[in-house]
Amino acid sequence: MNILVLNCGSSSVKFQLIQTDMDRIEHNSDRTLAGGIIERVGSQSLITFQSTGQQKVRQALPLRDHRSALDYLLRWVISPESKIKDINSLADIHAVGHRVVHGGEKFTMSVRVDDAVIEQIEDSIDLAPLHNPANLKGIMAARELLGPGVPQVAVFDTAFHSTMPEESYLYAIPYQFYRRHRIRRYGFHGTSHRYVAYRYRTLLGIDREKVNVITLHLGNGCSACAIRGGESMDTSMGLTPLEGLVMGTRGGDIDPSIIDFIHHKEGMTLSEIDTVLNKQSGLLGISGLTNDMRELLDEEREKQDRRAKLAITIFCTRVKKYIGAYLAEMGGADAVIFTGGIGENSAVIRDRICEGLAWMGLALDKEKNAALVSGKEGEISAQGSKLRAFVIPTNEELLIARDTLRTITNAPRRW
Ligand code: AMP
Repeated sequence: MNILVLNCGSSSVKFQLIQTDMDRIEHNSDRTLAGGIIERVGSQSLITFQSTGQQKVRQALPLRDHRSALDYLLRWVISPESKIKDINSLADIHAVGHRVVHGGEKFTMSVRVDDAVIEQIEDSIDLAPLHNPANLKGIMAARELLGPGVPQVAVFDTAFHSTMPEESYLYAIPYQFYRRHRIRRYGFHGTSHRYVAYRYRTLLGIDREKVNVITLHLGNGCSACAIRGGESMDTSMGLTPLEGLVMGTRGGDIDPSIIDFIHHKEGMTLSEIDTVLNKQSGLLGISGLTNDMRELLDEEREKQDRRAKLAITIFCTRVKKYIGAYLAEMGGADAVIFTGGIGENSAVIRDRICEGLAWMGLALDKEKNAALVSGKEGEISAQGSKLRAFVIPTNEELLIARDTLRTITNAPRRW
C-alpha cells in the first residue's frame, strides 16, 4: 500500500510517500518512495522534493495556502519528472496519514478521520492554537484533492502519553482547573518516543512489556519520556511543548513567577512574554548567538565562547536531572535512548550528558559513542554497563505510515 504521510505546520507542508504492508512491517522493509518540504506557504514558497535515488529538486513559487501546496505536491508526485516508482496517478495513493499535534484527552491512539474526528480535533484547538489548525488544513485539503474514497488517518503526538497515571499528568494547582479546562500534562513527541522504544525492543528481541527505558528526544524541540512496561509513565513536556528540557528556542522549566516579574520589570504583555519563552529562550536565549547546537559546539571549540559553553552546559545538566528524576520515579530502568537531531548526531553532547553517571551504573564506550552518528543505530554503553545507552534514529513518518495501514485494516495499533 502506498501511503502519503503529511506533516502540516503553520507555514509548511512536509511529506513522505511510503510503501508498506503487514509483511514489510514484519521484515522492516518498508520503502520510502519520495519526500520533501514546502516552506513559507502563503508567500514565495520554497520547494524541496526528492524521490528515492534521484537528485533533489528545488524551486521557488508562490503557493497561496495549504491546499495549493498539497495540490502542487500531488501533481509533482504523479508527474513523470518525479520518477517515483509505482506511482502514475492519484489512484496509486491508497491512504493519507497525518501528524496531528494535539489529541487532547479524547485520542489515545491513531484514528480514521471522519466528520466527528474533525470536530474533536477542532475542539482541541485552544490546547494547540498554532499546530492543530494547520493539521486540519492538511486534512481538509487532502480530502478535497484525493476524494472521500481515500482513507485518512490522524496520528497524534500526544496519544502515546495517554497511559500516564494521574500523579504524572496532574499539576499541583487547584483541581477545578483540570475539571473545567482539562489543564494537565499531555506530553508531545509521542510518535518519536514510541518509535524508538519499538526499535529498542526489536533490537533486543524482547516483548513490549519488558521495555523499561528513558527515551531522550533531543532536537530543536526536546523531551524526555519514562517508559515502564512499554508504556509512557511520565514525560517532560506539559500542557504545551514549552515545559521540561532546554530546547533550541524554548526555555523549558522555569519558576512560573518569572512571567509576572518580567511583566512588571520590562513592561511586556503576557503574549510578548510567551513569545520570549517559546522563541527567544533556550540555547538561543543563553548563548545570544544561535539555537543550532552544531554552531554552538563550533563557537565553544574554536572561539572558547563563554556563553556558548554555558548554553551547552545548562542543556546537558537539565537532561541529566531528568534522567535522575525518572530513574527514581520508575524504580530504575534498563537503558537510556538518544534520538533527534542532537541525540542522533552529537557524540560530544551524549558524552557530556552521561559524564558523571557511572555511580548510577551508566558507563559509555567512548569509541562506540564516537562511531554512532549520521543515522546509525546501536549501543553506546560499555560492556557490563548496568544502565545501558543506545542511539536510535527516530522515524516518525514511518510510524505514521504503519499506523495508517494498521488503522484502515483494523490491525492492532499499539506497537
Ligand atoms: P531536529 O529538530 O531533530 O532536526 O534537530 C535539530 C538540531 O540537531 C539542531 O540543533 C542541530 O544543530 C542539531 N544537530 C544536527 N546535527 C548535529 C551534529 N552533528 N552535532 C550537533 N548537533 C547537531
